[in-house]
Amino acid sequence: MKGENFCPLCGNKKGHFIKGLCKECFLKKHNIVEIPETIFFEQCRTCGKTKLFGKMVVSDSKNLASFVEKKVKIKNLNNSEVHAAVSTGEDGEFSAKVLAKGTIDNVPLFFEKEVLLEPRPVQCDACMRLSSQYHEAIIQLRAKEGGQKELKKMLPILVGFVEAMHSKNSLSAVTEVSEKKEGFDLKVGSKKAAQIAVRQMKNKFNAETKSSSVLNGVDKSGNEKYRFTFLVRV
Ligand SMILES: [Zn+2]
Ligand SMILES: [Zn+2]
Repeated sequence: MKGENFCPLCGNKKGHFIKGLCKECFLKKHNIVEIPETIFFEQCRTCGKTKLFGKMVVSDSKNLASFVEKKVKIKNLNNSEVHAAVSTGEDGEFSAKVLAKGTIDNVPLFFEKEVLLEPRPVQCDACMRLSSQYHEAIIQLRAKEGGQKELKKMLPILVGFVEAMHSKNSLSAVTEVSEKKEGFDLKVGSKKAAQIAVRQMKNKFNAETKSSSVLNGVDKSGNEKYRFTFLVRV
């Protein structure tokens, strides 16, 4: 049988003991779990996306929670687990309740803390580019013979197809629409988005499509850059 426990720091004889100290004194002396008071994250003031794990994403309570969990530092805790639950206050502020648990010398330990999540306004790379009319593609919306009337109706639909992809692809946006005698020219940030939107026009409205590309300089790593033009006839 074990002799009676006695904490040399506070004289406590009851409760769990870890490495010769009572649980309370042991936890005072050792920083087992570090949970920050405030966790900052970058948020784009234009598109509202947040930078989590190095990527701009649309944040929700789920990905913010795993971002918070990764900020918790744990030392020498066995079977450790961290859980964060993110909630939004009435003022739109985020906070998180963080729970960490594990064992040391088979003594179960629990840690709990309310953490403030604070956005730091930035402008993301994609929004910065789009604001200076960056575009990888131009979509030329044109009418089939006799279809001139359809053009004005089709324009917002086409723009909608491009913008619907914005949450996944930050460059998926129309940066400029210019009216031409023959129809509309749309500058689109992402070539891929333009391509998909054009395909949707073809499938949904039986549009005739054509694409072409011209060399548009060389990027920093020496790769040739092309500007794509997609013709959509409705
Ligand atoms: Zn003690
Ligand atoms: Zn942005």
